[in-house]
Amino acid sequence: MSRSSEVAAFYKLDLPQRLKVVREFANLTEEEANIIQQGGGLKLDLADRMIENVIGTMPLPLGIATNFLVNGRDYLVPMAIEEASVVAAASNAAKMARVKGGFVTSNTGPVMIGQIQAAGMKNPFAAKMDLIVAKDEILKKANDQDPILIKLGGGAKDIEVKVIDTITGPMVITELIVDCRDAMGANAVNTMCEAVAPIVERVSKGKVYLRIISNLATKRLVRSKAVFDKEALGGEEVVDGIIQAYAFAHADPYRCATHNKGIMNGIIAVGLACGQDIRALEAGAHSYASRSGRYSPLTAWEKNEDGDAVGTIELPIAVGLIGGAAAVHPVAKANLKILGVKSAIELAEVMASVGLAQNLAALRALAAEGIQRGHMKLHARNIAVTVGAKGEQIDIIAQRMVEERRIRMDRAKELLEELTAKRS
Ligand code: NAD
Repeated sequence: MSRSSEVAAFYKLDLPQRLKVVREFANLTEEEANIIQQGGGLKLDLADRMIENVIGTMPLPLGIATNFLVNGRDYLVPMAIEEASVVAAASNAAKMARVKGGFVTSNTGPVMIGQIQAAGMKNPFAAKMDLIVAKDEILKKANDQDPILIKLGGGAKDIEVKVIDTITGPMVITELIVDCRDAMGANAVNTMCEAVAPIVERVSKGKVYLRIISNLATKRLVRSKAVFDKEALGGEEVVDGIIQAYAFAHADPYRCATHNKGIMNGIIAVGLACGQDIRALEAGAHSYASRSGRYSPLTAWEKNEDGDAVGTIELPIAVGLIGGAAAVHPVAKANLKILGVKSAIELAEVMASVGLAQNLAALRALAAEGIQRGHMKLHARNIAVTVGAKGEQIDIIAQRMVEERRIRMDRAKELLEELTAKRS
């Protein structure tokens, strides 16, 4: 079996056949395959230990995006999502990117920022200077908290100190710069921030309040680039449409919110499948998009000399293979095995590439034919299910609504009544 993620007509296979392909690709054991297929695999006693007041679990559809080639390596990408057409769109865009070599990525390392807030000092700028001088003491205290991380080459590497003006007066914010290796790092960084707080209080002569990680992870950036062949996209006019769509998002926050939402469709679906903290991912992405004071697109689109669309994405992606749900949720563990990523950085780079692919697919659909055609076709099945259609009724009703271009709940109800009347 070849390790290519380009699986011909994967979507046409039935569910067990698809799982067989993935199983062979990723060398999944029978147990792992069963866990995936059993619709959740999260036992109640484990769920009960993960959060509070548990009454059950809530499974989501898990799909596989095909065709991803990132830095010359093939990936089958697990995506957990309830929204139709996202997995198909990612696979389709990844296929177009393959023509010109797939995705190329870079990163700034798995580095997070922890903040210690001090207020009430008389001389904030002198306090800033004194904290900088106390850097070695602060770093040592931080690193004493996590010998495992230090052994792996991570840990607190530096501090940055800033004075900010607030509605309650000046504050001195000490920032711990922590290499989290293969952890997302929130627990690790928060522990360090709490440990160094007494030093910060003593040195700054202020009172320490908050001690917590920042989700605006500007030192944990991931970038991906791909060239999308103009013929595969449907011609140079489509490329021009994509660039116009990007320019719209660049100029208008109302459009930009939806532009970035489309990117996060892909990133969050992979994050969820792999047991990541998706709130942290959303917070990081949108705050990064706003860092200049104006909400901006996380991607950029240009046309190269051949007329192809060149897309780039840059955003913080704080993910981990150690800790959190990634380490305990059985389906997340199986999904990480399907991806075959060896580090948190590699996971983040694949996720950024999926985000870029998702954006391309959305912009292409919007520029070429409008999003509704493809989207609603898939959505029609959901509407049919919502009104109570079962088995083959779902496909019959969905098909009829698509043909009539009336993909609506009221029409689905009528069609279901017609079908039921015919049968009785
Ligand atoms: P964690 O504390 O469970 O694991 C990290 C620890 O694992 C490290 O401190 C290290 O001691 C150890 N470790 C072993 N092997 C490692 C390796 N190869 N690389 C790195 N560390 C290794 O988890 P975490 O990543 O510190 O925290 C993540 C969790 O924190 C998530 O569940 C998240 O939801 C939660 N959280 C998030 C926020 C936020 O984003 N604002 C706040 C609080 C908690």
